[in-house]
Amino acid sequence: MTSTLADTVSSLMGRARDDLAELVSFRSIADPDEAPPEECAKAAQWVVDAFTDAGIQDVRTYTTSDGSDAVAGYTPGPPGTPTVLLYSHYDVQPPLGDDEWTSPVWELTERDGRWYGRGAADCKGNVIMHLTALRALRERDGGFPCGIKIICEGSEEQGTGGLEEFVPPNADLLRADTILVVDVGNFAVGVPTLTTTLRGMSIVDVRLRALSSAVHSGMFGGPAPDPIAGLIAMLASLTDADGNVTVDGVDATQTWPGSGYDPDAFRADATVRDGVGLIGSGSVADHLWARPAVTVLGIDAPRMVGATASIQPTAGARVSLRVPPGMDAEKAQEALVAHLRARVPWNLQCELTPAGVGQPFAGSLDGPGFDALKASMEEAFGGAELVTVGEGGSIPLCNVLHQTFPQAEIMLFGVEEPKCLIHAPNESVDPGEIERIALAEALFLQRYGATFKA
Ligand SMILES: [Zn+2]
Repeated sequence: MTSTLADTVSSLMGRARDDLAELVSFRSIADPDEAPPEECAKAAQWVVDAFTDAGIQDVRTYTTSDGSDAVAGYTPGPPGTPTVLLYSHYDVQPPLGDDEWTSPVWELTERDGRWYGRGAADCKGNVIMHLTALRALRERDGGFPCGIKIICEGSEEQGTGGLEEFVPPNADLLRADTILVVDVGNFAVGVPTLTTTLRGMSIVDVRLRALSSAVHSGMFGGPAPDPIAGLIAMLASLTDADGNVTVDGVDATQTWPGSGYDPDAFRADATVRDGVGLIGSGSVADHLWARPAVTVLGIDAPRMVGATASIQPTAGARVSLRVPPGMDAEKAQEALVAHLRARVPWNLQCELTPAGVGQPFAGSLDGPGFDALKASMEEAFGGAELVTVGEGGSIPLCNVLHQTFPQAEIMLFGVEEPKCLIHAPNESVDPGEIERIALAEALFLQRYGATFKA
């Protein structure tokens, strides 16, 4: 059985390459300043035609609140079988400097066994992966083993929230028992990986006022309070000397239960300079995926060039607190505000303004969907054990999906491993990853469909 499906997927890889080349040729950046809107329209139509051809019914575009078009469709499964929603997006990041690309940005080019081009991995490679999985099942079985819904977003890279606003009022169109958010990837090539958590974020703006105007630092420096120094003292209280978060009432002792993140690999990925230390006591994975993290995103203070001998009247900072799964982002924001308010020095006037909050997300780690996907990933990757990682950033759509479909199992995986350099020049995809993930998805749909059969 399995080898047959694997052979079928393998036989479809030539077509996958041709299709990816076509899809990559559309400059589908959902920003009219970067590319003509027709490019997104052409890509959307290509996606409609391709999924229709792969056996999905009623595939069409839906215009969302930000003006972008999402593509959706649905083929019901055999009676009694569950429904799976397959997510991807067809829009891409801008090229970020055509000069830095070794081969043409919009022309899929093979080099050293990888396929280069903008969107080859993020996320057009995942679109092609879905198509390959569906084609393999149809070619072998003449149909699908469970209900299949697809949603392919048109503005993911813009962060304008078109699909997030589309989901709640269109819940019936997208409702499913399991949702596969296929816009991430393996920890490394050949290592089957599920991304099981995403951190949320709380942002707070701090504004300190000390004087009614700038005054000379020679005439007044000493007794006159410097709001920049006050601000620095407040910000310094957010972590201890080792860099562990010390915000009052915010737990920072969690440990990551899944796979680790090798410190040397992390140093390279984060471009940490030789000799510079990592911060925090605990493992990289603890700090990156399981614990809160404080970052000062910006400070309002004079630039060094042109700085005068003055004490400033005011100073300000924008502070971000990344919030791990299991912590409420709004409560963390309140705690951050209270912590800062309790540390205002010298009775400076202080304004604290909450400026944005996003909840963390935890994907399914048990249930029939998880069991089926784990078994299928391990089978498709030659028996390698499934690895679970977190992601330090957030994908707001996952929270919307979870709120709209609280019963659904939501899982994240895909073809975007670190070598893909997504969002950077010279983005590429490993075709072996497309093949293995497509096989895993096809196996998953078979297994998951069979789970519910009496
Ligand atoms: Zn993406």
